[in-house]
Amino acid sequence: MIPAQFDYVAPTSVEDALAALAQHGDDAKILAGGQSLLPVLRMRLNAPEMIIDLGRIESLRGIRDDGDAIVIGAMTPHSLVGQDPLVAEHAAVITKAIKHLADAQVRHRGTFGGALAHADPGGDLGAPTLALGAQFVIAGSGGSRTVEADDFFVDIFETAIGDDEILTEVRIPKHTGWGASYEKFVRIAHQWPIVAVAAMVKSDGGTIREARVGLTNMGSTPLRARAVEEALAGQPATEDAVRAAAAHAADGTNPPSDLNGDTDYRRHVATVFTRRAVLAAAGA
Ligand SMILES: Cc1cc2nc3c(=O)[nH]c(=O)nc-3n(C[C@H](O)[C@H](O)[C@H](O)COP(=O)(O)OP(=O)(O)OC[C@H]3O[C@@H](n4cnc5c(N)ncnc54)[C@H](O)[C@@H]3O)c2cc1C
Repeated sequence: MIPAQFDYVAPTSVEDALAALAQHGDDAKILAGGQSLLPVLRMRLNAPEMIIDLGRIESLRGIRDDGDAIVIGAMTPHSLVGQDPLVAEHAAVITKAIKHLADAQVRHRGTFGGALAHADPGGDLGAPTLALGAQFVIAGSGGSRTVEADDFFVDIFETAIGDDEILTEVRIPKHTGWGASYEKFVRIAHQWPIVAVAAMVKSDGGTIREARVGLTNMGSTPLRARAVEEALAGQPATEDAVRAAAAHAADGTNPPSDLNGDTDYRRHVATVFTRRAVLAAAGA
């Protein structure tokens, strides 16, 4: 289907984009890579009167080292994030997740910030950013504010970004030297995850000192598997110890039920994929 008619602006600064948002209010929609928004417009599930394209704002693109954090601009495409050496060194779980995210064409157009702002519970970037304790920098007419990952994902397709705000960058605390793995369960290649697990492990001489585990599609938002993290701390990185901890992966989750799998099935898959992800991250 062809989208309903809309006007289009492509500002070259965040200030101009915010001014356009303020002027058009509920009638406006931000366009990033268009990989989720354009299908929505074509299906006429949304019919904004004004599209504000962020594609010409250079300051929103790129990855930089900022001391104890790396900073990823919201408009940086998945393909660049996935190949970036800083990300691979300090936030390897993101590199691993992007390897599984869609196909090369979508990775080329789709953006890091767009995917996180879209907040699809099946999106592959939510669990890794949650596990990393990322901070989301959001610009509005009154300036910028920073939202912690725990508070960013509010509900299905809903984040802490207000209607009159723009996500500008994501700050990721460096997790240098941590083992990482992203295990994604799909029926066919390039599918959205039925369930996926982002695991990060800091180990020392075969003992897991600290683990951070994020779950994809186990609720309306990405979730931390806190019971697994607590059970892993101080344990040997062995199959038996990790299996026992991973048995808690579905604790406190509320996964959806659909044609790909019902709630109980997803709970089971979460335990299996958590075990695999943690063992891979621990190098066991
Ligand atoms: C065939 C196909 C397969 C895919 N498979 C996967 C997959 O396996 N895993 C996965 O994670 N994703 C997948 N995706 C989605 C992909 O990751 C998209 O890139 C992502 O969902 C949206 O990013 P975008 O840059 O294209 O944003 P857009 O589609 O342009 O925007 C998405 C939404 O976010 C808002 N938005 C965008 N940027 C900002 C910003 N900076 N500030 C405020 N609001 C903003 C827009 O207004 C819109 O509501 C797939 C997409 C397609 C088409």
